[in-house]
Amino acid sequence: MTRALLNSALAGMGTTIFAEMSALAVETGSVNLGQGFPDTDGPIEIAQTAADAVLAGLGNQYPPGPGVPELRSAIAAHQKRFYAVDVDPDTEVLVTAGATEAVAAAMLALLEPGDEVIALEPYYDSYAACIAMAGAQRVPVTLRAPQFRPDIDAIRDAITSRTRLILLNTPHNPTGMVATRAELTAIAELAIRHDLLVVTDEVYEHLVFAGEHIPIATLPGMRERTITISSGGKTFSFTGWKIGWVTGTPELVTAVRTAKQFLTFVNGGPFQYAIAAGLALPDAFYASLATDLRRKRDLLATGLRAAGFEVFVPDGTYFITTDIRALGESDGLEFCRSLPHRCGVVAVPNVVFYDDRAAGKTQVRFAFCKRDEVLADAAERLARLR
Ligand code: PMP
Ligand code: GLN
Repeated sequence: MTRALLNSALAGMGTTIFAEMSALAVETGSVNLGQGFPDTDGPIEIAQTAADAVLAGLGNQYPPGPGVPELRSAIAAHQKRFYAVDVDPDTEVLVTAGATEAVAAAMLALLEPGDEVIALEPYYDSYAACIAMAGAQRVPVTLRAPQFRPDIDAIRDAITSRTRLILLNTPHNPTGMVATRAELTAIAELAIRHDLLVVTDEVYEHLVFAGEHIPIATLPGMRERTITISSGGKTFSFTGWKIGWVTGTPELVTAVRTAKQFLTFVNGGPFQYAIAAGLALPDAFYASLATDLRRKRDLLATGLRAAGFEVFVPDGTYFITTDIRALGESDGLEFCRSLPHRCGVVAVPNVVFYDDRAAGKTQVRFAFCKRDEVLADAAERLARLR
């Protein structure tokens, strides 16, 4: 066969860093602080609802394309409770196979070949792949250490006549940056002035330790041009269930649904009922999620500092980005590939989330959504690097 097998849009994308690093963790018996998933499942009442739904025959056959009504109503109620936004559960909500499918469907639905998408780098790895699969071009704007604030001038300069949309992620993986109202207002002004769409990935909306999470869709003039994406994976600690969702105007949601129906059509019937139950949990659940994670953040940050890393304390998400130069290291990818062998810990090199490889070369990300004793064990292992 003379022609390359893999579609050129995906050429060079290889295996995701998460799969590579989780496999390395298993192979070496290391503490896995690489791929972001909690090592404790979410609330038992949510799990029980899923089990009950399976046994009661709720959602065991194809659920409705937009998602089961119970979940769509729960998503609308959640947007109202936390952000005072009115969302029509019948026309403005779409349930997806995780936020991952929501991003993919949004890109496939909204982009034409040749369109440009402005994305903050380091970016979650599926963004680059989905933009490419849609035939569009990504135009990265770099978040720079130590604060990783969005550079509004750089975003303005990145806009061309081909720009179709801005792809945002706040709270931001991997840096932990939480965009402020002033930053989001400035981005919104640019979007309105240049008539751009905004797709915003807010899967870490409840994992905020400083400042507040503000959905850009709530800012003046943004409702009609914003697709908001979230997911139950992080909030409820069931990352394997892959129940995500999109909210937006009926026109935007219809466009995304058109693409989504040919990707998975539907998924996770019984889990949709369970996530609906999760979304109805009282405010105390959401507050204790953030309080717990803040404590874990501080635990891991202390361990990382003691081991010699420069630590960039995140305002949100369950990731800490570090710089390894303080350890006398200069290559994050090499460092992460050797770390399990050197001390039995797995992390993720941020460089894979950058186009500007130099900007992320010495950054390494650690996940802290783990039991305290696991974080303590990791800290002890990392101390051997000294
Ligand atoms: N967006 C970001 C920023 C993420 O970190 C993740 C993964 N954890 C996702 C999307 C994917 O979410 P899901 O598991 O719901 O597909
Ligand atoms: N979002 C998770 C992370 O950033 C992992 C998701 C995945 O494995 N694709 O670690």
